[in-house]
Amino acid sequence: MKKKPIIIGIESSCDDTGVSIIKNRSVLSNIIIHQKIHKKYGGVVPEIASRLHDQNIIKAVQKAIFLSKINLDQIDAISFTLGPGLIGSLLVGAAFAKSFSMGLGIPLLTVNHIQAHILSHFIQNANINNSYPKFPFLGLVISGGHTQIIKVNDFFKMEILGSTLDDSVGEALDKIAIMLGFSYPGGPIIEFFSKNGNDKKFIFSKPMVRGLDFSFSGFKSDVSQFIKKQLKINALFVKQNIPDICASIQKIIAEILLEKIQKAILKTGISRIVLAGGVSSNHEIRRMFMSFAKENKRCEIFILKKKYTTDNGAMIAITGLLKYERNLHDSIHVTPYSKFKIF
Ligand code: AMP
Ligand code: MG
Repeated sequence: MKKKPIIIGIESSCDDTGVSIIKNRSVLSNIIIHQKIHKKYGGVVPEIASRLHDQNIIKAVQKAIFLSKINLDQIDAISFTLGPGLIGSLLVGAAFAKSFSMGLGIPLLTVNHIQAHILSHFIQNANINNSYPKFPFLGLVISGGHTQIIKVNDFFKMEILGSTLDDSVGEALDKIAIMLGFSYPGGPIIEFFSKNGNDKKFIFSKPMVRGLDFSFSGFKSDVSQFIKKQLKINALFVKQNIPDICASIQKIIAEILLEKIQKAILKTGISRIVLAGGVSSNHEIRRMFMSFAKENKRCEIFILKKKYTTDNGAMIAITGLLKYERNLHDSIHVTPYSKFKIF
C-alpha cells in the first residue's frame, strides 16, 4: 500500500507563528503562537513580529512534533509560506524551513499564503460542510492583509477576479475598532458588541467600486468623520451607542462582500462560493452568505471552522501536501517576497 505522506507546514507571514503536521489530509497537530504584544501598539509592528517568530518557531515546531506522535524521520517534506507578508517575518520561516529540508534531506515546498487560505478547505473536516468543494469555485479571501475574489479552476489554477484597491476588510475593521477605543485586532470585538445592537440605527454609504474590486479606505474615513461629528455634539456618543455602531458597521461590511460575490456569480456563472481568512469567522457574514445560499438553491457556500479561518500552519501543510502529491518541489535557493504575486 502507498505510504500516506506526512508534511510539516510553517506559517510566519504576519504575527502568528503556525506549525502543523498533517498525514494525508488529516491534521495530527496544529500549533499557533499568537503575538499578543501588538495589542499595545494598535497594530502589528514588523520588527517585533520578526523577533518573536525567531523566538517562538523552535518551540512551536517541537510542540507540533511532540503532539503529532511522529518521529522526525517520518516527515516526507516541509512547506512554508513564501509570501505575501511581512518580509522579516517570512524570512524567519524560510530560513527555518530551508535548514530543516537540508538537515533531513527532504523536499522543500513553497506556499502562496492566499492560495493556502483557500486550500484549507481540503483539510479533512476543516469546514462546517464536512465536504471538499468541487472545481470550479469562487474563493473569497477576507483577512487582515487581503480581500480578493479568486476563480479557482483547480488546486493550483487560480485567477484573481477582484482585489481591494486600498485597505483590506480586516484592516478597515481593525482601524475602525481603534477609533472606537478597542484594542487590536478589533474584528472580533466589533462582532462581540454587535450581538446586542440595532444594525439599522446608523447608515453608512457603501463604496462605489466598479467590477469585482473592493475599497475600504473611504468607508473607514466615512465612519471616522461620522464619529468625530457625533462626538462634537455629544462627548458620550460612542460610549452610549457602541452596540448599534458596531452592528451597523458589521452589517454594511457583510452587505458589501455579498453584493460583490453576487456580481462575481453573474459574471462567471459559478455559484459555488468558498470563504476563507480571519474575517470569514464573523457570524453576520456567515449568516448572510448562508441565507443567500438558502434562497438560491443553485448556490453552495463553504465555510471553515473558526480555527482554520485565521492564519495557521495547517493551511500551509495541506497546500504543501497537494504540491508534494504533484511533485511540485521547489529549489532550496528560493527567497520570500512581501508583495502579492500572481499565482
Ligand atoms: P488573518 O489575517 O486571516 O489571520 O485574520 C485576521 C483578521 O481577521 C483581523 O483583521 C481580525 O480583526 C479579523 N477577524 C478575526 N475574527 C473576526 C470576526 N469574528 N469578525 C470580524 N473580523 C474578524
Ligand atoms: Mg492570512
